[in-house]
Order: sequence, then structure tokens, then C-alpha cells
Amino acid sequence: MIRINENYLNLKASYLFSEIARRVSSFQEKNPGKKVIKLGIGDVTRPLPGACISALHAAVDEMSAQGTFYGYGPEQGYAFLREAIAENDFRSRGADISADEIFISDGAKCDTANIQEIFARDIRVAIPDPVYPVYLDTNIMAGRAGDLSDGRYGNIVYLESTAGNGFVPELPREKVDLIYLCFPNNPTGATITRDRLSRWVDYARENRALILYDAAYEAFIRDDAIPRSIYEIPGAREVAIEFRSFSKTAGFTGLRCAFTVVPRDCAAYDTSGCAHLLHGLWNRRQTTKFNGVSYPVQRAAAAVYTEEGRAQVRSLIDYYLNNAGHILNKLKGFGYSCVGGDNSPYIWVDAKTDSWEFFDLLLEKAGVVCTPGAGFGRCGQGYVRISAFNDLERVVEAMERIGGTI
Ligand code: PLP
Repeated sequence: MIRINENYLNLKASYLFSEIARRVSSFQEKNPGKKVIKLGIGDVTRPLPGACISALHAAVDEMSAQGTFYGYGPEQGYAFLREAIAENDFRSRGADISADEIFISDGAKCDTANIQEIFARDIRVAIPDPVYPVYLDTNIMAGRAGDLSDGRYGNIVYLESTAGNGFVPELPREKVDLIYLCFPNNPTGATITRDRLSRWVDYARENRALILYDAAYEAFIRDDAIPRSIYEIPGAREVAIEFRSFSKTAGFTGLRCAFTVVPRDCAAYDTSGCAHLLHGLWNRRQTTKFNGVSYPVQRAAAAVYTEEGRAQVRSLIDYYLNNAGHILNKLKGFGYSCVGGDNSPYIWVDAKTDSWEFFDLLLEKAGVVCTPGAGFGRCGQGYVRISAFNDLERVVEAMERIGGTI
């Protein structure tokens, strides 16, 4: 008899986006003439930068000719891309990362999901609340989360992000082994200071723990005082893996390219306390289960680091940041407390009521779709996430409509 992995039965039904879709379509049925503005999703809306498109076309042409055709590439990614990343994203900012510590992939979602495979099942995992759901669900699938009681899994240490701590969790009181952090944060849009991040790095060093640092929204940081990489913090090379993505940086959500940094100094321990380098383990995992990102897509990603590409990416991010600034100013003007919206494409709004009630209010009265914070965890209750990923005209109209409503 074929049997299932029963950990999957322990997953909570993921009804957030399907419930949003259901409520939106029911609203549209009742109001066929009303145009709904979607500020709920975390997907980009602007086309790829021209430099990436040119590189993509050129690479496709190479693939069409006998002498320049590429078959399987290195599982870890082509050197041209790994070197461009190491130089531009890390070394130029004083972070000591080399090209061979960078693993190119087709998404930060799969990397943040897969990384837990290389750790023991009985480690203690700390996960933010509210959270990008992938971290929690993949640990549930792996059997690490324990039983669900009153909306929380017994073996997970929840790192609560609340107005009280500025949406940056405090260090856990109990000892944890694996720590997920995400800054600029999805869903709250909060950023972390160098000082607060240093405390996490120190904690990890003192406890032989590991930080999984999701920096998918790093490109939105414009304030130089905010760290863009965890490797800007001394000692982080020994205790942190960082995830980055071209998805939100350069509009690659449909093209797919990301990378994970596993420094050669990062270790985890076997039952006898003997250290094993994570670089080798992740390399083994990737070479076994992954066959690399396509050559044209890696060429498109490398174009992000050309002079032209850099300027285009900057203006792309500027566009969304301008949207975010508009949303933030308007909502504050309407009397709402918000976090995010600067150095981040997300605005986390204190709804002053139940998340879903506020969602319904915005939908019914203004025809604007947001994401109820309660869908991201218990601490998200009472908040909604508004996304700046849309056209400016839509954003302006959405704020006008909300202003006329609340
Ligand atoms: N990490 C965070 C925090 C995200 O919000 C997202 C996408 O929304 C991802 C990772 C996934 O990125 P990718 O498109 O590279 O899979």
C-alpha cells in the first residue's frame, strides 16, 4: 500500500489568496460596472529592463547556432553571473563573498523552501509571525513543526513582529537552532537596523545557530544606514545563508532567476558535535536535485549589472517606491499608522479593526483589493498589506477612492 507523508496532513489549508479571489469575484458579480484595483499581490507589473531583454535576445540567438549553442550548464550557475553578483552585490559594499559561494537558482521561493532539507528533523526552528508562508509550510512538510494547537505549531518558536518591537522580532528567550529572518520584510515592509541585525548574528554565533536571511527585497533599500546584506555584519559569514532574487529587483517573476549565498565558513554539526560545512552539503543537494537555470535567463540576469542595466533597474525600483510613498502618505493622511513603504514595496497598515473586515470595507466601498494581515500569521490580525506593485495611475486612483470612503 502506497502511503503518504502524513506531515502534509498537518498543513493548514492555504486559503488566503483563494479566499481573496472568491470575495473579489463575488464583488465583481454584484458590481459589474465597477473596476477593481488590485493592491494585494506581490507580483511586479512593469516589463523587464531593456538591457535584460537585449541580453535575452542575444542569448537566444547564440542557442540557435551550432558554434554557440549551450546545453546543460553548471548546476551552480555560470561563472559570468556568479562573478558579477559577487563583485556588484557584495564586494563593492564591503561584504566578503566570493563567486563560488553563490548558487544560481530559478527562485528564492524554492531555495528558501529546499534549504531545510540539509538540517536534522529535531532542530528547533524560529519563524517570524507574520511571515512569508514558505518557511513555515516547508518545515511542517518535513515534520519539524509539531502539532497544531490554537493556530500555532508546538515545536516552532514564533518570532513575533508587532508595533511594540517596531516589527523587528526580539531574540528568542529559549535556544533555537535555525532562524528565518526576512528584511525588507514581506509582509510588513519593515527593515532592520545594523545594530538589531548584529544582535541576531551574535546570538547565532553564541548558540551555534544558523540564520536564513531572505533579502528578496534588498533592491528597495535606499537608506544607506540600512544593511542590504547580512554579510555587512561582522561574523555573519560563519552563521548566515542569504537568499536573493531578481524577481522584485528586475521584474523577473515570470523569467525566474535568483541566488543563494552559502559562505564557506558556515557549518552545522552532526550528533557527535563534529562540524560540517554547509557549502558542500548545499552543493551536493543542488547538483543532485537541480540542473541549473537556462543560459538565456542567466545572461538576462547578468545584464542587470551592466551600466545600462543598473540605471534601468534603479528607475524600475524608483517607480514602485514612488507608488509606495504615495500610498504611505495618503494612508497616514487618512489617520492610519503604517510601517514599510519606504525602502520596501509593501505598506503594513494598522486597520484598527479585524483584517478581513477592513479588507471587505476597502473592497465594497472603494473597489480596492489588499491582503488581510491575518493570512500571514496571528500577529498579522488587525493589519492589512498594501502592495506598491501596480501602475501609478491605478495607485493614485485607489488612494482617491479610499480617501472618499474612510
Ligand atoms: N522571499 C520573499 C520574502 C518573497 O516575498 C518572495 C516572493 O514574493 C520570494 C522569496 C520568492 O521569490 P522568487 O520569485 O525568487 O521565487
